[in-house]
Amino acid sequence: MSRVYNFSAGPAMLPESVLKTAQAQMLDWDGSGVSEMEISHRSPQFEALQKQTQDLLRELMQIPDNYHILFMTGGARAQFDALPMNLLNEGETANYLVSGYWSHDACQMAQKYNSVHVVNPSAAVNMNTLSTPANWDINPKGSYFFYTPNETLTGLALTDTPKVTMPLVADMTSYILSQHYNVSDFGVIFASAQKNMGQAGVTVVIIRDDLIQEPRAFTPNVLSYQLMAEKNSLYNTSPTYAIYIMNLVLKDLKAKGGVTWAEQENRKKAALLYDFIDSSDFYSNNIDKNFRSIMNVSFMLSNGKLQNNFLQQSAEHGLLNLKGHSAVGGMRASLYNAMPLAGVEALIKFMQNYAEQNQ
Ligand SMILES: *Cc1c(COP(=O)(O)O)cnc(C)c1O
Repeated sequence: MSRVYNFSAGPAMLPESVLKTAQAQMLDWDGSGVSEMEISHRSPQFEALQKQTQDLLRELMQIPDNYHILFMTGGARAQFDALPMNLLNEGETANYLVSGYWSHDACQMAQKYNSVHVVNPSAAVNMNTLSTPANWDINPKGSYFFYTPNETLTGLALTDTPKVTMPLVADMTSYILSQHYNVSDFGVIFASAQKNMGQAGVTVVIIRDDLIQEPRAFTPNVLSYQLMAEKNSLYNTSPTYAIYIMNLVLKDLKAKGGVTWAEQENRKKAALLYDFIDSSDFYSNNIDKNFRSIMNVSFMLSNGKLQNNFLQQSAEHGLLNLKGHSAVGGMRASLYNAMPLAGVEALIKFMQNYAEQNQ
């Protein structure tokens, strides 16, 4: 079986060169005579790998020196709890911009600890546009402002970084490394790795030093930013192989030209697909053009009855995992950094033929 184009929203496609390197090093990592996954997280070799991975991410994202880079577990969802546990003291509130499924979920989780404030009252899971910042009702006393730059299910993305007077927190899981961000605009950025940075198992937390504080008393140690920062993310056994894969992905990205390269490619890929969908009567995308994601492109077929047939035939053409999330329906093509332009071109060609045959 040859490699196919995998449009999965996550875990997602990885660069082939990364998989090949991992394969070649499986039995003997760096002359150690063992696999990377058999090495102690407290060994000098692993500590060097972790340091190199942090340095690469710092370089690629231009993360200033006054930010810690933590490697945590439990995925982005664990951060939905970790965040209020660490940054929301008793009696305080925080602002949440709800733009879809993930930010809605993050907001629900925070509600368990303190009453938090939803900034946009029209908040729902399946949204295709967002109100402008002038219409947001921000509580000036909020301990932080949370948002999700890219809602992975619908493909609703906020291009402009919100300007707020409190620490800005972003769940960047499906947008990290897809385009440039000015990290100093943020207090905390978190992202699990399996969309654009590697395999499932590790979550990156980029946090400004002054926000690292004593968490609420009931916080599990593994979710304490303070403890994780103090122990350089080596409090419990870290997800060593996931960090190794991330290391390979970051090296690969750097060799290709870093985030500048990725952003150019991503804009090209997304524009190609959106232009095709917009020019077609057979397919449609209902996301406001000002908020269209460059990572997750959702689309509907004009004849909903063809959905299963479309999925079956696309899979037969080596175009996998185009089914949208059950919460929103329809189709979704995820075009993360590892998806080559040729994959998008193959998808468009298939969609064109399919429309002609089923018009
Ligand atoms: C995938 C995703 C999540 C969930 O990540 P887990 O690692 O499964 O917890 C959260 N937020 C966003 C924006 C996502 O795309």
